[in-house]
Amino acid sequence: MSDDPGINSSGVLIVVDVQNDFCPGGALAVPRGDEVVPVINRLAAGFRHVVLTQDWHPAGHFSFASSHPGKRPYDTIAAPYGPQVLWPDHCVQGTAGAAFHLTLDIPHAALVLRKGMDRTIDSYSAFYENDRKTPTGLVGYLRERGFSRVFLAGLAFDFCVRYSAEDAKREGFAVFVVEDACRGIDVDGSVAATRASLAALGIACISALDPA
Ligand SMILES: [Zn+2]
Repeated sequence: MSDDPGINSSGVLIVVDVQNDFCPGGALAVPRGDEVVPVINRLAAGFRHVVLTQDWHPAGHFSFASSHPGKRPYDTIAAPYGPQVLWPDHCVQGTAGAAFHLTLDIPHAALVLRKGMDRTIDSYSAFYENDRKTPTGLVGYLRERGFSRVFLAGLAFDFCVRYSAEDAKREGFAVFVVEDACRGIDVDGSVAATRASLAALGIACISALDPA
């Protein structure tokens, strides 16, 4: 992938939420989440254009089970914008858990997009908050920069990568999920549901080793 000038000029790699809290030892660890780091470092070296996203919540965020008396992590509640899975407190602004994994090494990333900063709404997608209406501004950035192909990698495959991929497709980008550069949480079959949804939408799952 890394030598294809077509990818390098029209494509952008979006690295989703490779943060300490989503890696083993973190507050909301994705199983084997740290395994994506060397894969993503190699992958990113082949892209001229890279965007990093960072889950970045205020303390007491609505998506935390601790904000809902009697609820536990991984319970689902009815939010005004639809079902919301409740999570352990994670990625609180300015904490070590919210920092990027120490070995993530993408010095040429042009943009760090933070999300989930509104206390009252979660944001899985890099493009829209969970009401699916409030934009983060990333669509505008990508359009203004002239990118047409979006490659996604990171954590977690079945939540933030999935929602980002689906929104990117909806916005008219050609979308590729680099699946071996992702790991999933798998809540109630969410990994299988993600694969089915991506396939139904025509979003390609590729390998970091594939020529594209
Ligand atoms: Zn979060």
